[in-house]
Amino acid sequence: MMATEPFTETGGRSSVMVLDPKLVEILACPACDDRPPLRLVAETLVCDQCRRVYTIRDGIPILLPEEAFIPEAEA
Ligand SMILES: [Zn+2]
Repeated sequence: MMATEPFTETGGRSSVMVLDPKLVEILACPACDDRPPLRLVAETLVCDQCRRVYTIRDGIPILLPEEAFIPEAEA
């Protein structure tokens, strides 16, 4: 029997993908009427329109206005 090539493991990557970029593309802010797209910032999703920040839990974006927070604007 030929020597079997060991599977190269994919666990060597250092960067953790928080969310699939393709998924981010189809996500929209549930708090805004015209459903603007969300922007992936660090490990959160940000709406540029209402400034809400949605958290991502275990790879699942929590797109609930009541779960989102709005960072205080710097004076
Ligand atoms: Zn919004």
